[in-house]
This record gives sequence, structure tokens and C-alpha cells, in this order.
Amino acid sequence: MSDWTDVIQAATTHDPLSGAVNTPIQLSSTFNQPDFDHFGRFDYARSGNPTRESGEQAVAKLEHGKYGYLFSTGMAAISSVLFTLSAGDHIVVSKHVYGGTFRVLSDVLPRWGITHDFVDFTDLDAIESAIRPETKALYIETPSNPVLNITDIRSVVALAKSHGLITIADNTFLSPFLQKPLDLGVDIVVHSATKFLSGHSDILAGVVVTNSRDLAEKIYFMQNAVGATLGVFDTWLLLRGIKTLGVRMTQSSQSAQKIANYLSTHDKVERVLYPGLASHPGHIIHANQSKSGGAVLSFDVGSEAHAKTVVEALKIPVFSVSLGAVETIISYPPKMSHAELNADELRDTGITPGLLRFSVGLEDADDLIADLTQALALI
Ligand SMILES: *Cc1c(COP(=O)(O)O)cnc(C)c1O
Repeated sequence: MSDWTDVIQAATTHDPLSGAVNTPIQLSSTFNQPDFDHFGRFDYARSGNPTRESGEQAVAKLEHGKYGYLFSTGMAAISSVLFTLSAGDHIVVSKHVYGGTFRVLSDVLPRWGITHDFVDFTDLDAIESAIRPETKALYIETPSNPVLNITDIRSVVALAKSHGLITIADNTFLSPFLQKPLDLGVDIVVHSATKFLSGHSDILAGVVVTNSRDLAEKIYFMQNAVGATLGVFDTWLLLRGIKTLGVRMTQSSQSAQKIANYLSTHDKVERVLYPGLASHPGHIIHANQSKSGGAVLSFDVGSEAHAKTVVEALKIPVFSVSLGAVETIISYPPKMSHAELNADELRDTGITPGLLRFSVGLEDADDLIADLTQALALI
């Protein structure tokens, strides 16, 4: 069935008791057992509950996976996956990884003897050289945040398989509506569902999906052990957000393409990073693994002072961290999402002083272009 139909069907689990069209919010931390010798499907809500289970089945279906897990935040999801590693294990990670993931890898896991190397994932030879006997996984984020670098998912998967490693992909930036890493051979998909999946800047949520029973068991064990599970209200809001995923992703990425085209001809803009542009070095690879350029682009206005002028002059976008919502969000990565990185790390990952990230919402693209025009005229 088409993704459009999947989105609606996956997010609409009818209540078998009442026939209610929407998933009931089951506010119960514990479940009465039918008799002394036979226990029911649920016992304690951290281990599983019907509302979260509906949400978990929905995200699994959307990613073409068998097993889905919902966490309280994207970082809880990502950390719980990384916690399945053990002391002595090593992981090779895209150096253009989300700031919070960078922090867990750099400041938490090494204390437990889990080490990593950050590598440019556009360079397969560099990835291969970083693989050691103790390496267990390759960690992909494509398009990456905030420089929109593209990793060739199929090639990284092939490399991983040839070394007996698993692959983990953060699919936050495109959502399963635009890209399905499991279909390309990835073993584990993670998401900040705070972004496009929920889509309304209202909740924090995280997702893990896999097709492997073995990996699913490890992830479920960690979800239940650590306990960073998604609550039932937030699960309900996530399901509600997912119902419009198709229309939101389609509309926002069309607008993003239009805005990227416009900015790439603007003389005050030094570069536009958007995989939907033919000038993007990863354009062809991206087109072979996803449906469109997505709703996020970054552009460089030359300096921090120019970035400040543009941000202060823009009237429509929200100036904040986060992305993937109905409202357009502009952010300044060097001081926001990537404040963890020092000056060398910022330069090394291409986060230049004039870089602004633009997550396109559902406003009229022409209104956003007019707003950008008046703001850019001030620099
Ligand atoms: C926001 C984000 C995360 C972290 O998710 P939270 O829900 O904020 O914990 C991870 N990866 C990417 C790509 C993100 O944008």
C-alpha cells in the first residue's frame, strides 16, 4: 500500500472495546491479572501499555520495520540503543552527528569503556580505515545536521556487512515518509520524533525501529531497564501528529525546494546547503535513497554579524532550536544545537560563523521568500 494510506492506517488503531476511532489513552501504571497462574498481555506500564504499543506499532509500520519502541525523547532513544554496547566496544560515527548524540558519545560512553571515532561519512575509505577489531557498529545521520551532508546509505550498509557490523541511522531529518533506511539495509533506525513525526513543536519523543528480533530484544531490554519510555498522553499526540505526516512533509519540502532555489541565486548568500539542489555534492545519492530534498536547509550569510541581522529582521519564522514543525524555525547552530562543539570542531564540521538553519513549515513559501528578501536586504 502507498505511504499515504500507511500513514493513516498506522496511526489509527481503533479501540476494540468501544470502536472508538482513536487510540484510547490508557492511564494505568499497572494491570489486573486474570488469575493466579495466567498473566495478561500487560503487567506494569514501563514494560508495556496498550497506548504506547499502538504508537510503537505505528512507527514500526511507517519505517517498514517489525519492532518499534517509543522513548521519552530522541536522546533517550539514541542513548538506549548505544547502551546496548559493552565496555571495550567501539563505534564509528558520522562526524556530522546531532549535538546531543555527540555529547553522549564524547562525555558519557567513554567513562564506561565504549569508544568511538568521528569520521566524514561521505568518505567510504575513511570509514573503512576507522574500523577496528572491536568495532561493533556504524552510525549514520543523513541528511546531517545542520550542514545537510549526504551519506550513501546502501554503500555504508555494504561496508558494514562486509565487516560483520550493524548500521544505525538517525532518520529524523526526513521522516519515514521521505526515506526508509531499513529498506536500504540499515539494522536500526532512530528518530527524534520531537521533530517531523509529531510535527507541532508540542512534545518530546524518540523512536527506535528494527527488523531484527535479536536487536529488538536488546533494545526492549534497555527500554524496560532504563525506563525512558514515552507517556500515554504524548503517545496520543504523536499518533495525532503522524496522521498529517504525508501532507506536512510533501508541502514543507516543496516550499523548502523553492526557498533553496531562491537563496542559491541571492548575492548576499554565500552558499546554500540543501540536497534537493543539483549543485549539492550529494544530490544524486540523495535522490536514489529518498523521495525529496526534505524540509530543512541551511545557508551561509558570511558572518555572525550578518546572521544576527537576518535573524532579527525576519518576521515569520520562530527563532529557536528544534525543527520539523508546522511553523518555520530558524536557528543559529554555532550557538544553539552545536554549542557543545569548540571552534576547531565547528570549523571541521563545516558549521561556519554565518550559517543559519531553516526548517520550513506550512506557511506560504512566497511569504517566507518575501520575508527573507527584506531581511537579506539589510546586510
Ligand atoms: C533533535 C534531534 C535529536 C534529539 O532528539 P530529542 O527529542 O531532542 O532528544 C537527535 N537527532 C537529531 C537529528 C535531532 O534533530
